[in-house]
Amino acid sequence: MTIKINYKRMMDNFLELVKIESPSNEELNMQLYAQKKLKSLGCKVTVDNAGKTFPTNAKGNVIGFLPGTIKSEPFVLAGHLDTVKPCKNIKPVIKGNKVTSSGKTILGADDRAGLAIIFEVLNVLKENKIPHPPISVLFTLCEENGMYGAKGLDITKLKGREGIILDSSDNDKLTVSAPEANTIDVEITGFAAHAGVEPEKGISALEVAAYALSIMQLGRIDKLTVANFGVVNGGESTNVVMPSLFLKGEVRSRNLASLKKQIKHMQDCFVKAQKKFTKKVNGKMVKPVIDFKVGLKYPILDIAVNSPLIKHITAEAKKHGVKIKPYSSGGGYDANILSGKGLLTPIIGVGYRQMHTLNEWLDIKMFNQTADIILDIVLNYKK
Ligand SMILES: [Zn+2]
Repeated sequence: MTIKINYKRMMDNFLELVKIESPSNEELNMQLYAQKKLKSLGCKVTVDNAGKTFPTNAKGNVIGFLPGTIKSEPFVLAGHLDTVKPCKNIKPVIKGNKVTSSGKTILGADDRAGLAIIFEVLNVLKENKIPHPPISVLFTLCEENGMYGAKGLDITKLKGREGIILDSSDNDKLTVSAPEANTIDVEITGFAAHAGVEPEKGISALEVAAYALSIMQLGRIDKLTVANFGVVNGGESTNVVMPSLFLKGEVRSRNLASLKKQIKHMQDCFVKAQKKFTKKVNGKMVKPVIDFKVGLKYPILDIAVNSPLIKHITAEAKKHGVKIKPYSSGGGYDANILSGKGLLTPIIGVGYRQMHTLNEWLDIKMFNQTADIILDIVLNYKK
């Protein structure tokens, strides 16, 4: 018996999937479809309550479980249910090795190509009575606009702590590391005074901020670390010494020590500015107040290149002539959030191109090849 991906069935399913409209925050149709489909493929299906943690018409992330026929930890296959817009009335067009949209919408291969591969792999397992490990499937909500599904995921409902996310372009690029990102919110409170009559009695929050920023390192800090302030807000009138100012920024790094060091440096700059602008007003010492808040935007993704999981994926891809290159990204993904919850999932490409544009297209050859690779990754996984 030869165990093979049915390319035609997978393409038919892909074409069906792209027609289901489910932009971020409105994924209910896709959630219901995925539940039904996974059930028909022999999975036990649960939906968590992640939908309560952010605005969406969906109930939650879809979690499937296919019991194994060999003893092993479950392997997790993951993708996301939402797409960017415009995604109404997607009309896929096949031309040679490409699937494109009509040009009026995105294609939605991001991430329906990933979903179609997962469904097809389960299909192959269902029709062939072949030994395989248990498989968990995770389909998240709202990946595109902030990984809210992954953030709200009830990880206790999902079995298995390693697997792979099918959601990127090239299948020889495996994203294994991405930075932790921290938000930096700074509120500077100075003292208001009439700028025309008695400016010396005021402390300008703007000047405090300007001084702090002038002595601060921002931008590229080192190979693994970047820092930026992207939002500034303050002041109402030109004749008032600015009493308060808000700054919003972030620091990202793939090295947690460097991340901490940069945040401390930024805070120190504000402390120095605070000292510099402390002064006597009406015989009393007054100083600007600095409220410096650090928040976690998303945790680090850092899977060792020589870990058994990455070695396994690399070896299976090699059988299909694909030489995996581990990749370090500067962005944040579902994989970051999942890693923070103890689930390790590098990200593999599935053949989509120019995603998030009207020119998005799917490379059919790479799509098929990735399905072959994923099938082998699953079949030969044992832990
Ligand atoms: Zn995606």
